[in-house]
Amino acid sequence: MRERVRKFLSALVHRRRVPSSLLLFGKEGVGKKDLAFEFASALLCLKESYPPCGECTSCKHMKNFLSKKKEELLFYGEDKTGKSTFLFLRGDHPDFVYLTPEKSEIKIDQIRGAKDFVYLAPALSKRKVVLVEPADSMNPYAQNALLKVLEEPPLHTHFLLVTAHLQKILPTIRSRSFLLEVPPLTPQEIKELTGVDDPLILELSEGSLKMALKLKEDTELLKTAQAIAEGDILTLYRKALEVEKWDMERQLYLLKLLQAKLHRRFLQKRNSSDKQALDRISAGLEYLSRGIKLSLLLFQLAGGEKHALHKGKVSRQQGLSS
Ligand SMILES: [Zn+2]
Repeated sequence: MRERVRKFLSALVHRRRVPSSLLLFGKEGVGKKDLAFEFASALLCLKESYPPCGECTSCKHMKNFLSKKKEELLFYGEDKTGKSTFLFLRGDHPDFVYLTPEKSEIKIDQIRGAKDFVYLAPALSKRKVVLVEPADSMNPYAQNALLKVLEEPPLHTHFLLVTAHLQKILPTIRSRSFLLEVPPLTPQEIKELTGVDDPLILELSEGSLKMALKLKEDTELLKTAQAIAEGDILTLYRKALEVEKWDMERQLYLLKLLQAKLHRRFLQKRNSSDKQALDRISAGLEYLSRGIKLSLLLFQLAGGEKHALHKGKVSRQQGLSS
């Protein structure tokens, strides 16, 4: 599956038919960002080869870029008022910039700052590349500013946009971009890439390389998810309080894992209560990053049969009595 995407990208490079904006989308953890970097390196490679040759000056600069920490690549400019503002990440490659949020979103100043870059002729390679990732972190002002640039596509510059949330990208940007879906990895591909061969992990990873690697290194995560999904109500309450102390990233992994488990059960049993729980988890994934407590979300999933939901408030009393 993944090879098909790479073959397609390779054909674009070799036929020199690279769109000025390419939007790579697909589920989280399926390797979109790695593909985008590989593609960017190929577009810039002095031998114009895909996969990139890895040897030329351009490829060396790109490798160097990838080996550095974000803090070493921060590039600042000035906003309208003359205040210093983060623009993008850049290393030694004169024809490559990486637009990414400094905190939570990509702002309009960053797009404006990149404009100075995109309309200049390339200095080393035949092309210039702006990688925007995650593209859905552009706020609406930034998206509109980017749209203006795409409406007058700079001659040599290619935009690579990467997102797991295609619906958050303005339809006008989507229609000006070439859309390419990166499919989930097959269990076999994950096995080859990670060395994981536990069938449960392969199944629950649902094609996500990230999840497979996380489950491989963090065995408690899978155990906790199992206890929550299959244990009684008391276990759920106990675990909910425990996971409250986890960091946000681990909490998000746990919710995604619960989602995968419930999804699997839903496919087998077609339970309406599992469907409702799945909807709540989807919403929860969104709310979690906005500060709602994970324990509250988990309490909402409790009650009734294992995961049937109470419509009203969930109290310890209701949970126990059900
Ligand atoms: Zn090269």
